[in-house]
Amino acid sequence: MCGIVAYLGNKPAAPIIINGLKRLEYRGYDSTGISIFENSLQVYKKAGKVVELDNLIGSKEFTSTIGMGHTRWATHGEPNDTNAHPHYSFNQSLSIIHNGIIENYNILKKELLNKGYEFSTDTDTEVLITFIEYIKSEANCSLEEAVRQALTSIDGAYAIVIMNTNNPDQLIAARKGSPMVLGVGDGEYFVASDATPLIEHTNEVVYLKDQEIAVIDRDKFRIINIEDEEQTPVIQQVELELDALEKGGYDHFMLKEIFEQPNSIADSMRGRVDAANGNLTLGGIREYSKALANSKRIIIVACGTSWHSGLVAEYMFEEYCRIPVEVEYASEFRYRNPVINEGDIVIAISQSGETADTMAAIELAKSKGAIILGVVNVVGSSISRVTHEGAYLHTGPEIGVASTKAFTGQLSVLIQIVLNVARIKGTITESKFKELLTELSTIPVKIKEVLESNAQIEYISDLFKDAHNFLYLGRGYNFPVALEGALKLKEISYIHAEGYPAAEMKHGPIALIDEKMPVVFIATKDSSYEKVVSNIQEVKARKGVVIAIVTKGDQLIPAMADHVIEVPECHEALMPLVSVIPLQLLSYHIAIMRGCNVDQPRNLAKSVTVE
Ligand code: GLU
Repeated sequence: MCGIVAYLGNKPAAPIIINGLKRLEYRGYDSTGISIFENSLQVYKKAGKVVELDNLIGSKEFTSTIGMGHTRWATHGEPNDTNAHPHYSFNQSLSIIHNGIIENYNILKKELLNKGYEFSTDTDTEVLITFIEYIKSEANCSLEEAVRQALTSIDGAYAIVIMNTNNPDQLIAARKGSPMVLGVGDGEYFVASDATPLIEHTNEVVYLKDQEIAVIDRDKFRIINIEDEEQTPVIQQVELELDALEKGGYDHFMLKEIFEQPNSIADSMRGRVDAANGNLTLGGIREYSKALANSKRIIIVACGTSWHSGLVAEYMFEEYCRIPVEVEYASEFRYRNPVINEGDIVIAISQSGETADTMAAIELAKSKGAIILGVVNVVGSSISRVTHEGAYLHTGPEIGVASTKAFTGQLSVLIQIVLNVARIKGTITESKFKELLTELSTIPVKIKEVLESNAQIEYISDLFKDAHNFLYLGRGYNFPVALEGALKLKEISYIHAEGYPAAEMKHGPIALIDEKMPVVFIATKDSSYEKVVSNIQEVKARKGVVIAIVTKGDQLIPAMADHVIEVPECHEALMPLVSVIPLQLLSYHIAIMRGCNVDQPRNLAKSVTVE
């Protein structure tokens, strides 16, 4: 959440920062602002998206070679012009951009008010920068030292960059719990929330660790920790293609990412799945693969869409590995004193690898002796660095706020983990293993086939775009798909939707069904097919309108349902990879028809770095 970009170098900073903010806008888009140095420190900021800042700046040409910018996802205070970042300290000697939450801001605010300081915004961020200003003047120390001292008193999460009105040649950056990357170019430095704004300038980066402070001058940078100990920066190469950050001819990132899935799934298997020879190599999980096979219990922690892929993994782990699995919302798990035994395996799933609750759940489980494995998309992200081992999705950057290709990428990787463990444990026959591996390798072709139904799905979307409610029902492996379909619709079209196990419908949701209620059944041919057919009958008997996702060639359901979307035949355990695709397209088209911004839905942001 929230995007941060800062620059110190030999080129005009403003265009670099504004361009960088556009790349980071998926992280938050409540307001935008920039601080630059044109003889004095100047702040331009505006509620709304980066385009509003562009309009505010207009044709002004800035020469400043230092600056910092922010796109906000508001936590404290309305998303208006005043609360937009950057903020000044009380005496305007400092300016700050901040991602995160200062949890003890209220106590600090009261103390500062008692000392005569005043505040002009509702944000926690203004309190932090004024607190730093106060310490600097009290201790009569350098800015670096004042920042360090102040941060020792801060509870909560932050990634901050600070500029000093009296020093146009220095940026100070620090992080705890919120992501931050330092880019090292030729005579220039960058700071950003992730590597996406940097890669057109440099591929050399330093991932700042928690409680580290970077002091960036024109000709050098240093990193200290909060205890004032000098740290040795590790410069790493990022491998990110610029093309991956563009829409590539599609109207929206979400649509591009939906259509990328045949390739992204193939990428998630590249070098791992060798179906022809019946081999599966998961390089990221080697040392702990035996521990995983011997484990008495697996706990999956995740949030949102990742939680849904965790549910599919639960079904698979239990079926093929005979290991009990619990799938936990990370935000609940971390606060409820869960039972974690030494040797328990925790699998953390997160697209961004920065999800604050998942990160905290990992820390809790780790402190109790669990082995932590990560299933993460963003290479080098915080979660990927704190886990014992893990497997990356390798599906490329996901920019659309509503997750699509990350979901199928997670499923692909989790299935690979399951098959690997089942084989080590001997709970799967060699022929079943090979059958599933072969089936997995055909998924890209099957997804491609589903994508050919796009026009038909668009037609169906038009019929239902004005509905107020939707119900999504599925059983077995298709139950998590029902949850995911409902979530996609809610996220981007703002239509109320609920996902339920189809049989559970009778315990409540059936009361909602009338002729106005579209019910999406994920009703592919699998072991619960007959039961789902009965559930469809029950809905039809109550005049519900049925849209069914069916296996190609099915005769029975098309005769009962109002609309059907066919998907190719597929093994039931792998079906979620295929059956979710029409639901992604359905939500996309409905949202577009309702005039919604699918890439930046209201109130949401990608990469949820606050708890
Ligand atoms: N807590 C800060 C605010 O509300 C920062 C939010 C963010 O991460 O964008 O302004």
